[in-house]
Amino acid sequence: MLVYHLPGTFGTREADLDLLWTAGATGLEERAGIIRAYFDARTDLPPQVSDGDWREEADQDWLAEFKRTLRPVRAGRVTIVPPWLREEVEAGQLPLVIEPGMAFGTGHHATTRLAVEALSDLNLATLGPEGTGARVLDVGTGSGVLAIAAALLGARFAFGVDIDPITIPIARENAEVNGVPAGRVRFEEGTLGEDALTFPEEDVDAYDVLVANLYAELHDLLAGDYAAHLVPGGPLVLTGILTVKLPLVRAALEREGFGDVQETLDDEWALVTARA
Ligand code: SAM
Repeated sequence: MLVYHLPGTFGTREADLDLLWTAGATGLEERAGIIRAYFDARTDLPPQVSDGDWREEADQDWLAEFKRTLRPVRAGRVTIVPPWLREEVEAGQLPLVIEPGMAFGTGHHATTRLAVEALSDLNLATLGPEGTGARVLDVGTGSGVLAIAAALLGARFAFGVDIDPITIPIARENAEVNGVPAGRVRFEEGTLGEDALTFPEEDVDAYDVLVANLYAELHDLLAGDYAAHLVPGGPLVLTGILTVKLPLVRAALEREGFGDVQETLDDEWALVTARA
């Protein structure tokens, strides 16, 4: 692997980055005060970026490297782990196994963790009709992590939808790995607004809990649909929200008549809960 090492950072050499791309760099990375530019072959570089040096480096298996860094993620009563760390889940915690792959939701993002914590706080096993367990809708399910967490936490069933079809077989596979029976969890391509989002086995289209890890602008657009798909008083759990965008989400929830709005912050990320 051929790497050109250029002293500096993306910030200090912003103007030079384009020169590297134009010269044929296939990737740029910044590490410890060095910009690393990946090339397929040595090439003449313009004088502005000629103060670096070429290095031949051993190829690295980035996926293996990434996998080595993963640790179990504790979120309320659930611990999210990749399959090879299952034995590290502490006694008393519910293991939720997610194979890191193409779909968002390994638990390592603050927003996923915040959402699982919020689900864990909801007593899903005792919500719902006659306390038989909550019916949960997960909008933007990705790896299925939130719907599967809901099922493990005692929800009667959880329905995960995503506009990206690539996520659906991944989410189904994750449900199977976690031993969640097909009747307790379902994943389909879809979104709010366009589709009725009826859970076919029970002919339900208003849910006891709605969780969505999307982003503030989309929460603003979908807030009316959230209200339409929740039973009166049903908890709404929203994340994927940058703290600077909280005013947009607060205004949308007020506009649609949600009450009891509460916020949990984690660095730059926020989770908002409210009641329909
Ligand atoms: N629920 C997972 C979690 O909490 O880790 C994944 C969340 S990921 C940040 C957002 C997911 O929402 C992506 O899989 C994306 O494809 C999906 N998505 C984006 N816009 C959507 C929409 N309008 N309707 C449904 N899903 C959407």
